[in-house]
Amino acid sequence: MSLSKLTLFYDEIYSSGLDRTARFPVDRYQLLARKLLDNDYNNSICWGCPRLATKEEILLVHEKSYIERFLNHQLKEDEIRRIGLRPWKDAIVERTLRLIGGALDALDCVLIDGHTMSGNMAGGTHHAFFKEGAGYCIFNDLAICAEKALQSKDINRVLILDLDVHQGDGTAKIFEDDSRVYTVSLHGKNNFPFRKQTSDWDVEFENDTEDEEYLRVLDVVLAKLFCIDFDILFFQAGVDALDSDALGLLKLSREGLKSRNEKVYAWRESMGIPMILFMGGGYAKPIEDTVDAFSDLFLEAANNLQS
Ligand SMILES: [Zn+2]
Repeated sequence: MSLSKLTLFYDEIYSSGLDRTARFPVDRYQLLARKLLDNDYNNSICWGCPRLATKEEILLVHEKSYIERFLNHQLKEDEIRRIGLRPWKDAIVERTLRLIGGALDALDCVLIDGHTMSGNMAGGTHHAFFKEGAGYCIFNDLAICAEKALQSKDINRVLILDLDVHQGDGTAKIFEDDSRVYTVSLHGKNNFPFRKQTSDWDVEFENDTEDEEYLRVLDVVLAKLFCIDFDILFFQAGVDALDSDALGLLKLSREGLKSRNEKVYAWRESMGIPMILFMGGGYAKPIEDTVDAFSDLFLEAANNLQS
């Protein structure tokens, strides 16, 4: 794998593992894959097939009984209702293991193969807690990858920068007393989850916040984070702050989100640390707006590596 290409992990099951009638934009993964294949004029993306995460890896973060009940298709109805993604489909088990496997593969790209950045074209499942899922999230891939990264002698401190429009509540709770992982969440004040947790740093935006205000605040956050030592950046890059998103309440434009990404990539470069991209949320109507914004995210990263 070339170090100047962005290695992205993707499998068809990211879309096909969910029921087509679920109240969730299941097609966004395959639409995005197609769009990236059509628009990667510089051939700057290298595609990887995600492996299956192991039960032992999920145990780094989650309760054994919760994991086993999920793997054995024995979650209770109210647990499934909290997660959403209904009607539940059996393939969701393989999908979930591959989705976490893709994030762990991206981590290996950085920690073992020496890439500057890598990404998974799904995940960023930040609403999952120790023993329960919520808000389309079953297990917390960010937290599992953080624990896995901390097993490396090169990683003493992980920064999880969560720019999804919803608070990274599960991640915040899992690491609330853990100084090895610094959790930062910029989110809409009035969005789900309505009971917020406490990240190391939370920034809340009022409804209808637009590009200028958002980017001004992000500049302040990044400037302050520059003064703290981190060994790796996990970027939860949800695009649901987009104006046309059905679940976010902010009003960022496509150009605003591109500027957001550029600021994070420039910050990473100035810090000289590697980065893992986690996709995060996006529920725009039409779905093409979400796909366009994610396409920007990954192509900008790929171009950043080549420049
Ligand atoms: Zn979200």
